[in-house]
Amino acid sequence: MKPTITTTEYNYITQQVNDLTSAYLAVNDFQVRLAVRAKTIERVTPLLPSDELNTQHFLAGLETDRLSRKAAAKLLELLVPMVDPFPVLSTKKLAKLFRKVKKLKQPEWAGLKRYELTYLGWNDGGNQKKYLVAPYQGRLIGIQGELSPQTVKGVCAICQTIGNVALFLSTTKSSGLGTYTKKGNYICRDSNQCNRQLTDPQALTDFLTVVQPQRKN
Ligand SMILES: [Zn+2]
Repeated sequence: MKPTITTTEYNYITQQVNDLTSAYLAVNDFQVRLAVRAKTIERVTPLLPSDELNTQHFLAGLETDRLSRKAAAKLLELLVPMVDPFPVLSTKKLAKLFRKVKKLKQPEWAGLKRYELTYLGWNDGGNQKKYLVAPYQGRLIGIQGELSPQTVKGVCAICQTIGNVALFLSTTKSSGLGTYTKKGNYICRDSNQCNRQLTDPQALTDFLTVVQPQRKN
């Protein structure tokens, strides 16, 4: 099975399916349920590889009236092998991305659902730090910064969703001048949750354009 679904597409499909199961709980009119279901199928179908058996099983499963949350979760599992996941990075590769960090806390790979991750983000709570690894202009870049221990309700600069965000202060070296500027953005404290909410890859790219350190020439 060739992975052809992107992580943001997978998260979008998951959101659509979850919205559908919520609608089933709220709507008693059969015709309305039919219309909501048709809309969901119309939205997700173009994102699925049409020649895969799993796609056919998934779409056939969606036709069920009043699909339960449990059944929906089972259906979504059919898509996982078709998703191009975030790669596993060796300790060496991570060290290269964060050269200046002496004792880099490692991400907890075992608990990660890489098919949901468009970027990798983890916290070093003890040092109030957050680390991000994200694709940018065809390569992976590492961003680090201070993460405020205070959590507030607000819009995340990465996933554009309202949730528990914290001020992330990244240090950016201005090109040529040798001066450092700190850039503050409110982002989700929990980067795994943030990833699940990330359905637009452009939102991540825009964030990275603002916070990424300048490349040395
Ligand atoms: Zn977020």
